[in-house]
Amino acid sequence: MDAPAAVTRTHCPYCALQCGMELRVDSGVPDGADDGINNGTTNGASDGAGNGTRLRVSGWDKFPVNGGALCQKGATATELLAPASRLTSPLIRRSRDAELEAATWDEALDFAAARMSAIAAGHGRDAVGIFGGGGLTHEKAYSLGKFARVVLQTPHIDYNGRFCMSAAAAASQRAFGVDRGLPFPLADVAQTDVILLVGSNLADTMPPALRYFTTQRENGGRLIVVDPRRTRTAEQADLHLQPVPGTDAALAAGLLHVLIAEHLLDEEFIAARTNGFEEVRAEALRWWPERVEAVCGVPAGDVRAAARLFAGADGSGKPARPTTGMVLTARGTEQQADGADAVNAWINLTLAAGKAGRPYCGYGAITGQGNGQGGREHGQKADQLPGYRKITDPAAREHVARVWGVDADSLPGPGRPAVELLASCGTDIRALLVAGSNPVVSAPDAQFVTSRLAALEFLAVCDVVMSETAALADVVFPVTQWAEEAGTMTNLEGRVLLRRKAVDPPEGVRSDLEVLGGLADRLGRPGFLTSPPEIFEELARASAGGVADYSGLSYARLDAASEGPGLHWPCPAPNHPGVPRMFLDAFGTPDGRARFVAVGHEPAVEEPCAEYPYRLTTGRVLAQYQSGAQTRRVPSLNAAAPGPYVQLHPDLAAAVGVSEGDPVRVTSRRGSAVGAALINDLIRPDTVFMPFHWGGAGRANSVTRRTTDPVSGMPAFKTAAVRVEVAR
Ligand code: SF4
Repeated sequence: MDAPAAVTRTHCPYCALQCGMELRVDSGVPDGADDGINNGTTNGASDGAGNGTRLRVSGWDKFPVNGGALCQKGATATELLAPASRLTSPLIRRSRDAELEAATWDEALDFAAARMSAIAAGHGRDAVGIFGGGGLTHEKAYSLGKFARVVLQTPHIDYNGRFCMSAAAAASQRAFGVDRGLPFPLADVAQTDVILLVGSNLADTMPPALRYFTTQRENGGRLIVVDPRRTRTAEQADLHLQPVPGTDAALAAGLLHVLIAEHLLDEEFIAARTNGFEEVRAEALRWWPERVEAVCGVPAGDVRAAARLFAGADGSGKPARPTTGMVLTARGTEQQADGADAVNAWINLTLAAGKAGRPYCGYGAITGQGNGQGGREHGQKADQLPGYRKITDPAAREHVARVWGVDADSLPGPGRPAVELLASCGTDIRALLVAGSNPVVSAPDAQFVTSRLAALEFLAVCDVVMSETAALADVVFPVTQWAEEAGTMTNLEGRVLLRRKAVDPPEGVRSDLEVLGGLADRLGRPGFLTSPPEIFEELARASAGGVADYSGLSYARLDAASEGPGLHWPCPAPNHPGVPRMFLDAFGTPDGRARFVAVGHEPAVEEPCAEYPYRLTTGRVLAQYQSGAQTRRVPSLNAAAPGPYVQLHPDLAAAVGVSEGDPVRVTSRRGSAVGAALINDLIRPDTVFMPFHWGGAGRANSVTRRTTDPVSGMPAFKTAAVRVEVAR
């Protein structure tokens, strides 16, 4: 019989839902024994120690966000720990033409520190940069920011979270003075009357979240989905609007136009709790539904119906019935050249309908990456210091410098946002340290990005596996992940979570924190913290008084709060309960009033033309995650989603002579990607869709644009002009 299992309650390694999961380490299992179960809730992955242990994963019933449910990715997560595909030794490329070869930790750290030091000495400190990841724990994200500003003293740090929801973050700050993905618990979704879900396919990206939407509809609520594709999420909607990608600002203005024309505004709320409506009203009056139809491709009748539904009206001219409502956006509306403006257009609609600042109402952004929220709160973003402080704010610099024991004047200023930072590689940025990111697959215009990384004088990568980016590196550090280390994360609701360690890492692997500590020692800054609880304690002090104030949080509190309502930031004192619902009394602006932001619709920078007559939009599938560096190594996920596809409408397929399953090449001004044809009428006839999880010939980001939203630095992933043909 197996010995009793040791259970560790922790959280999923993937998305921002951060589902609670239980890991059972069964000891006393004969080597090679396996229960053969792989039914989506358990698996027989070994910890690889050869010591007769077996690791199983199941949902954690008492963690309220997922209530025990896991998606396919979470249910197979222990396979990520299997050593077969892991890096277990540092690797060095000793000369440009040499292969990567195994090295000791001292050799690798000495080599990396010497190269970074020589480049900084020869070309200035700004010649060294850092590129982080939205999946890293707070402790790692915070340490990367501190390492950049204190050890390297470079301004150049940014992360792949810039690609995730920076547009929504910028828009929320403009409107509310605060950016927290959802300013309310996800469970509130089930209690609201009307949801307007824009550019999100939750059914594939975070299936356990769907139960709240199902309950909302069972409670009599209504769901409006805005998406160019009829996804599994859109299938559940009462009303599905299928706009041309990149026209959200016009569509939102059209809905607002209907509220104005049909006297459905919440004038009392606008007067009492907002500023700036008149300018927004003037812009909305230019977007009557027929004009919206011409620009967005959404029938004018549907624009009117959506506006009435959202306002609680029936179109009879009678006053709207008082309803609650939410607008939730995700990457579809945010990853555009006007991403922040488009989100503000949706927020304007939310405010005009009075659906903010009260229970079961509000605007929220559905964060994608596991710690996409926390990653930008604590210093991994080019313009921020811990606590969501501005790096240009003298008081913030003084406070953080005091915690770090350095002179505020020694802290660099803001660096470049991710796309610019990557584009600078090989020119003024000559050395780059990448942690928790695979930009060769995930960055827009990936061929260009690959060429810039290849042009660096020195590239170091911390990763768990040999990703496409690690394969280009001069030094690769094999690092711990998820269940092999303690750390904290903030999920999409601003709930701060403790990830507990369940197993030891494979021999030869160290934490990213130890990599930074080892480099700091060699770069003349000994004593860099490497213990997660100690780092969190320092982070909490550094965040004190900031917008994202974690100073009342500790590992002990997070441990104790893990099964209840949880602790949502801000939490400024050890006895403070946190703030699950923000803005009920006041918004986060200096005068406490929400701000309407006057925005217009700008046509996509790259409109279809004779040579590139269609639009490409990209996204995720259920069984793969982001750049696929992790999920492409899980056999059952690969079996479910083995490679890229190109979704196209039957009319478009007939026009270009493509049949189901044909290899289809999608080509833009930047490059091509090939996938198997998936032909159905669930997508607009002028638009094709590709998931972006693969490298090589199927890399969708070879086609996408590195044009960015000027407000947030978000790349315009979701609209590229392309041609489509059979790949012969
Ligand atoms: Fe993990 Fe997200 Fe799936 Fe939950 S929904 S199991 S957090 S990938």
